[in-house]
Amino acid sequence: MKILMHMCCAPCAVYPSKKLLENKNEVFGLFFNPNIHPIEEYQKRRTTLEQFSKQSDIPVEFIDGFMQSEWETFKGTTEERCQMCYSLRLQLAAKYALDNGFDSYTTSLLVSPYQNHDLIKSLGEKIGNQVGIPFYYEDFRTGYRQGQQEAKDLGLYRQKYCGCIVSYNETILQKFSKKAQ
Ligand code: SF4
Repeated sequence: MKILMHMCCAPCAVYPSKKLLENKNEVFGLFFNPNIHPIEEYQKRRTTLEQFSKQSDIPVEFIDGFMQSEWETFKGTTEERCQMCYSLRLQLAAKYALDNGFDSYTTSLLVSPYQNHDLIKSLGEKIGNQVGIPFYYEDFRTGYRQGQQEAKDLGLYRQKYCGCIVSYNETILQKFSKKAQ
C-alpha cells in the first residue's frame, strides 16, 4: 500500500514509519501542524522532521500553517480542544492523500500513549469516510519506547510538551513556577 502518514513530529514518526516500511508499504510523510506554539518551537519541530526525512529517506511534504490565536481563544473542554486539533490536521491529510493517489492515510499520533488514542482512531475513520479515503489504523503504542530510543540515537530533538500554547502553559510554565517556589 502507498500510505500517507500525517507526521505530528519526528520522534513520533520513527516507529510507525519503520513498522509500515518493514511490512512492505510505501510511506510518505506530511507535516501540517498549526497547533505547535510558540513559533520557535514550530520551527524546531519542522526542522527536526526535515532532518529525519533525510536520515530515513522518507519523503515529507511540508504544508505550513501557524494558528496560535485559535488555540488561545478556544472556548471548550480539553477534549473538545484536542478534537478540534486532531480534526483540522486529519482533514487536510485525508484530502491530500485522496488528491495525490494514496491508498490510505494515517497519523503518527497513534504511537503516543499521551494522546487520546480512541478519539484519534474514531476521527481518522470518520474523516476518511467523509473524504473518501481509508484510514489506516494500527495501535503503534506498543513501539513507543523503542521509537523514542531510536529518535534519541538519531539525535532528534524531543519536545517536552504536546504542542499548543495551552499545553505549553500547563507543562513548561508550571514546571518553572514550581521550581521557583
Ligand atoms: S494538547 Fe495537544 S492534541 Fe490537545 S489541543 Fe493541544 S496540541 Fe492539540
